[in-house]
Amino acid sequence: MKASEIFGENVFGIAVMRDKLPKDVYKSLVSTIEDGTPLDPGVASVVANAMKDWAVEKGATHFTHWFQPMTGITAEKHDSFVSPGRDGKAIMEFSGKELVMGEPDASSFPSGGVRATFEARGYTAWDPTSFAFVKDGTLYVPSAFFSYSGEVLDKKTPLLKSMKALSREALRILKLFGTEAKQVFSTVGAEQEYFLIDKKDYLRRKDLVYTGRTLFGARPPKGQEMEDHYFGAIKSRVFDFMKELDEELWKLGIFAKTEHNEVAPAQHELAPLFASSNLANDQNQLIMEMMKRIADKRGLACLLHEKPFAGINGSGKHNNWSMSTDRGVNLLDPGSTPAENSRFLLFFSAVIAAVDEYQDLLRLSVAGAGNDHRLGANEAPPAIVSVYVGEELGEVLDALERDEKYAGKKRGVMKLGVDTLPDLPKDTTDRNRTSPFAFTGNKFEFRMVGSSFSLAGPNIVINTIVADVLKRFADVLEKADDFNSAVHDLVVKTVREHKRIIFNGNSYSDEWKREAKKRGLSDLADTSEALPLFAGEKSVDLFERMGVMSKREVVTRTEIMLDNYCKSVAIEGLTAVEMVRRDIYPAVLNYVRTLCDAVAAKKILPGANCATEEALATELSELTDGMCTKAEELSQALAEAKNVQGAAEQSAFYAHKVLPLMHEMRVIVDCAEMKTPKEMWPYPTYGELLFGV
Ligand code: ADP
Ligand code: MG
Repeated sequence: MKASEIFGENVFGIAVMRDKLPKDVYKSLVSTIEDGTPLDPGVASVVANAMKDWAVEKGATHFTHWFQPMTGITAEKHDSFVSPGRDGKAIMEFSGKELVMGEPDASSFPSGGVRATFEARGYTAWDPTSFAFVKDGTLYVPSAFFSYSGEVLDKKTPLLKSMKALSREALRILKLFGTEAKQVFSTVGAEQEYFLIDKKDYLRRKDLVYTGRTLFGARPPKGQEMEDHYFGAIKSRVFDFMKELDEELWKLGIFAKTEHNEVAPAQHELAPLFASSNLANDQNQLIMEMMKRIADKRGLACLLHEKPFAGINGSGKHNNWSMSTDRGVNLLDPGSTPAENSRFLLFFSAVIAAVDEYQDLLRLSVAGAGNDHRLGANEAPPAIVSVYVGEELGEVLDALERDEKYAGKKRGVMKLGVDTLPDLPKDTTDRNRTSPFAFTGNKFEFRMVGSSFSLAGPNIVINTIVADVLKRFADVLEKADDFNSAVHDLVVKTVREHKRIIFNGNSYSDEWKREAKKRGLSDLADTSEALPLFAGEKSVDLFERMGVMSKREVVTRTEIMLDNYCKSVAIEGLTAVEMVRRDIYPAVLNYVRTLCDAVAAKKILPGANCATEEALATELSELTDGMCTKAEELSQALAEAKNVQGAAEQSAFYAHKVLPLMHEMRVIVDCAEMKTPKEMWPYPTYGELLFGV
């Protein structure tokens, strides 16, 4: 099937709107989508009716408001279009009111106490800036989710507000540059990494089923060192999976390309074409859902966890980010004229300043139980935030900072707004792969985001912190007499003040860790250290100042995320204990008995040598003692953890007491696995999961 034939066929997109809506309604809706004008309430019923007719043609019988509660995934409540008509006949109906507002039974969504105090009801509201679509016989209406008193309960609303803040401040600056724009969008293209393994194996691993990652597993003789990406027996199923996934996503208007180019065995990547952050976020949710569903259908399991296998690369979601006007001008594209260049450098330096000033927020926006196993390990970006700008741009910034001429140019001191930048090669071959926040020619790539994350959290932070710096820039520039030299001075000052965040070397090295410390960069080791800062004064002030979240919303969000973390680790701990006590210990004990039986049997041989069997049985017996002792300690720690007061304190307990015990237990278990026959081991091994052997 060709992409062109099916692309977007299940989406109520711009072309369908133009086709199905009366001209004035179409115009009004598009100006809401593209220019940010508030939705005209009069158009809702017309749109609803057109949407319904279109959806029914596609076979839909139901509709749902599709929203993104704090769980990080999506939720929906289906209602039928069918209403009683005259003469006992049924008619298909969808009113403007139903399109605009919904009331899901939402009492079970995490709200950090917001709803409890105010009003038990939660509402959903149509987000016209993302597109409705048909899936599984249902019309999906992308929606925001909030409480009766207007408090935000979801991930989408603050994302939209952060985009609005960014647009507001960027427009002030564009006006000064004379760049025409009605709105500025943050844009995101998120590369999604994932693992595919055989579903039969998956279902035999309690740890994968309960926690998404393997809690045990000895390293196979071969890991990823050969980088030859073995598919083994599931190769053709993987290809068919990718084909179907591509097609299903095309139908939903997501232009995506799947590839199997990752380093780890059984790991793959999908990169969609970038879109506005809001749409990209919705699309990413659909991508993750489709991946899981299509894998399942094809006898595979899709793992979206950040670190499903120890000792093997984890998965991320590289968040490519930029800003673009409604006319499609990418503000992080250097351009070719002096004016474009100085505009570029101003926005570029704003991002650098924002990243430096709010390192902690960026770090905590990607904190979570899964990502803790990835960040700072020797594969993924480190937990220290820094920015890669590349050699050429680095030299340009150096020259600007020292008010010297740029070495590559023959003319005098480079003056922004007057001189052009040297051509910056948009080179993709020798890009730095170790940087957490890398400039890649016309966008930044934030590589710390975890593969299972909602894109909302990190992008709320990026948009808001950049908006904050742009606001300050606009305050200065609006008062300036000489605009060009004010821009120049602002860029130079910004580079001087924030250059400590720029690092072009190997971010995985210990040397960088030491250097980063000297530079005073923040190094938050794990979720329990990072997350509580979200509710700190600096963070609350920022979100309130930019109109993105209230203090209450920030504080409750922090609690929900910390609670999530604690629950995740608790489930892991309980799963590990159960696996040891009920499966692993009995299995190893069985083998010890077999060895002892062998010793007894061998004894009938004259001069029998049973040293090997005896030594092995003794060693395994010690290992089983060890793992059972640890299981007991872990079990006690888990009971204790529940009683720790305070979300931050509790998360620290899980991080520093529970996880280390799990790790110690794993070391013992993995040791025992290496010495136990495969047939007697209760779970598929890493070799089977990753290589099919
Ligand atoms: P890579 O070499 O990393 O594959 P690509 O140019 O293919 O780089 O882009 C990777 C991702 O970045 C894609 O999802 C792409 O759509 C996205 N991207 C490209 N330009 C932008 C932009 N201006 N804003 C946001 N994302 C972008
Ligand atoms: Mg990339």
